[in-house]
Amino acid sequence: MNVVIIGGGQAGLQIADSLRTEGFEGKIEVIAEESGLPYQRPPLSKDYLAPGKEPAPLPLRGASFFVDKNITLHEGVQALAIDRAQRKVKLTEGSLEYDHLVFATGARNRTLTCTGASLPGIHGLKTLADAEALHAALPTARNIVIVGAGFIGLEFAAAARAHGCNVTVLEFAPLPMGRALTSVMGEWFAAAHRSQGVDLRLGEGIGRFEPGADGRVGAAVSTTGASYPADLVLVGIGVQSNDTLASEAGLEISNGIVVDETLRTADPAVLAIGDCASFPSAHAHARLRLESVQNATDQARHAARTILGAESPYTELPWFWSTQGPYRLQMAGLARPDDDTLVLGDRAGAKFSVLCFREGVLAAVESVNMAADHMAARKLLAAGTAITRVQAETEGFTLKAAVNTPATPVSA
Ligand SMILES: Cc1cc2nc3c(=O)[nH]c(=O)nc-3n(C[C@H](O)[C@H](O)[C@H](O)COP(=O)(O)OP(=O)(O)OC[C@H]3O[C@@H](n4cnc5c(N)ncnc54)[C@H](O)[C@@H]3O)c2cc1C
Repeated sequence: MNVVIIGGGQAGLQIADSLRTEGFEGKIEVIAEESGLPYQRPPLSKDYLAPGKEPAPLPLRGASFFVDKNITLHEGVQALAIDRAQRKVKLTEGSLEYDHLVFATGARNRTLTCTGASLPGIHGLKTLADAEALHAALPTARNIVIVGAGFIGLEFAAAARAHGCNVTVLEFAPLPMGRALTSVMGEWFAAAHRSQGVDLRLGEGIGRFEPGADGRVGAAVSTTGASYPADLVLVGIGVQSNDTLASEAGLEISNGIVVDETLRTADPAVLAIGDCASFPSAHAHARLRLESVQNATDQARHAARTILGAESPYTELPWFWSTQGPYRLQMAGLARPDDDTLVLGDRAGAKFSVLCFREGVLAAVESVNMAADHMAARKLLAAGTAITRVQAETEGFTLKAAVNTPATPVSA
């Protein structure tokens, strides 16, 4: 029996690792279109861009991992087509047969199509090559425009401010990170970035880019007609799943490769994990595609067990982090815009948590510079402990203390 994994990123390497840990003795082959040792993406928008550093990529696994675990890494090789009837993957060089195939193809950046969108000086941030280009450009950049106030856009805004650049962020939505955060937290982050000198323009999208005298980007004109000088632009408007191969192979796609609760597609020999997978979430009670290290690694561990015969559903609690200058945001569970919220801690001092209640019970927690709250929230939510709003409002309540307190039944 052998396993072929398409994608040598966070999820692809984790499932290779987990298959061995779980005792799989067959052949494991990882197809990775990027050359070199697979690396971690999160530092690329954070430490990698800090001023005065000569950064190096952080590998996901060292070179010895592949030798020690007897895993073949085909680096710089792309999977081009799948023949499911023959159980064969066509590669840029040759082809491979499989007993089990795993899509761990991740996601690619959405791109802009407005006038001037391909001018030199306009960047995306997904790969090491993208980060290298930004790292080289930042020391001499002066006026930076960022399109999109999502996690990547705001992490980059903080890095650009650390380089002393003038930073304007254009965001069409009324709040930053609006897809993922409560409005309480979104409003706090809007004020926090402004206090760090970021010119955050909410409700204002990009209209077009204009060239400067040197033919590179010179200005960004927003949907309101306002013009902002720009010698460097970062476009951070989200990603879309890399699912073309799966779609061409006749697999169902719905905002990602559709899998069941065991992370298999409708073809039992084919699984999908990480950023590319659309899975039924036990926590959202809906189909989701998540873009996080937690989701990639936990799904990879689970899918390894599925391949080895387990039939249990994937139920891991989603969690996430984002570091934006001095602010470390951590989220446990999935907040919803209509959640009832309670703030605990010191908002002005940037050390607090937003507790989100659904039907009176704790459902998610967002924390800023409160690692202890985040870790406690993960324990409480994963264990299904029913923390009520009444309990949380009690004098002296902390999430950490609640971990060691007997659970209150939901009906109490
Ligand atoms: C700049 C940046 C910062 C981030 N920061 C955070 C953070 O702070 N916290 C957090 O939780 N998450 C963060 N993320 C998200 C996190 O890195 C991803 O969710 C995670 O990497 C997803 O893992 P994956 O294996 O699904 O995809 P990836 O790690 O993207 O790996 C997919 C790989 O598949 C390859 N591939 C695709 N198609 C083919 C093909 N046909 N043949 C061969 N190879 C192929 C791709 O080239 C890619 O290398 C960040 C992402 C970026 C880009």
